[in-house]
Amino acid sequence: MTPTCHCHHTPHHPAAAPGAPVNQPQSTFTGKILDYVLPRNEVTGKREIRIIPLGIEKFLGSLNYDSICPMRSTTTDAALTAKVQHIFKKLVDQCPRKNLDWEIRVMKDDATVNAFCLPGGKVVITTGMINKLNSRLDATQEEQFKDLTFEDNVAAVLGHEITHAAAGHSARAIQFNLLLFTVGKIISYVVIPFYLLKDRTRRDSARTAEAAAQGVDLLCRFATYLFVQKNSRDHEFEADEFGIKLAHKAGFNIQASERLQVLFLEMSGKKVGANTHAVEKGLQLFSSHPPSQERLDKNRATILQLTTPS
Ligand SMILES: [Zn+2]
Repeated sequence: MTPTCHCHHTPHHPAAAPGAPVNQPQSTFTGKILDYVLPRNEVTGKREIRIIPLGIEKFLGSLNYDSICPMRSTTTDAALTAKVQHIFKKLVDQCPRKNLDWEIRVMKDDATVNAFCLPGGKVVITTGMINKLNSRLDATQEEQFKDLTFEDNVAAVLGHEITHAAAGHSARAIQFNLLLFTVGKIISYVVIPFYLLKDRTRRDSARTAEAAAQGVDLLCRFATYLFVQKNSRDHEFEADEFGIKLAHKAGFNIQASERLQVLFLEMSGKKVGANTHAVEKGLQLFSSHPPSQERLDKNRATILQLTTPS
């Protein structure tokens, strides 16, 4: 591997990315209040509740960064690290969310093909993932990806992870759990006992309250489970879509996001198509990681949308 940079230094159409979120602050009075109560997500442009303060989001990330990927577990390949950091910086420079402490580490782990992000902008990519990106698909498939460079392929992975962090996906999951936990406890220990105490003739009210509290607890856990399942699917699609847009803005060849899913499909060894059994399709509804075929199709559509001249 040579340390030469193969990045495309001319961003394609940086200003005209279709579907770019409108993040203009509101100028009206009600708009300003709305921006405060329900700020817009910097990545998607959607309004959302934000109860986890930025400081906590960053703290959670840096707290876990050193335990999950301590500096002693990072690769000693300085040329590779420099390359990955350069790609990371190019992407972060185009990222709409500026208030995070962005950092990338290349973890020395050839056995694991993985990349992930922690809240607050801390990203990890394994050498196993780097090797996977460098591996070749079969000749006929590789032909259509012949223009892609190492940088494009790495940018496809990092754009996805940067989007997870920028959109605050893990912070949003944590805050939902926190909210539901609190609501559950209030119902169990305030609302239920209050109603039972009003009826003082009941002898077994304490036992009934306990049973009801357990029921509420179970319901909250189930709701959390469903939310996590549903949300992680949505978050994956969101990270794919906005990750591609980010890589496009930073001037990388976004066809790499298609190749990445082809690589994943090849690894998982399953192709989801028209012949997929109905039961299996039903199960996919509850799968937190959407089938790669679906992600491949969506990525193809996003790439086509961005690369077709209007
Ligand atoms: Zn993801």
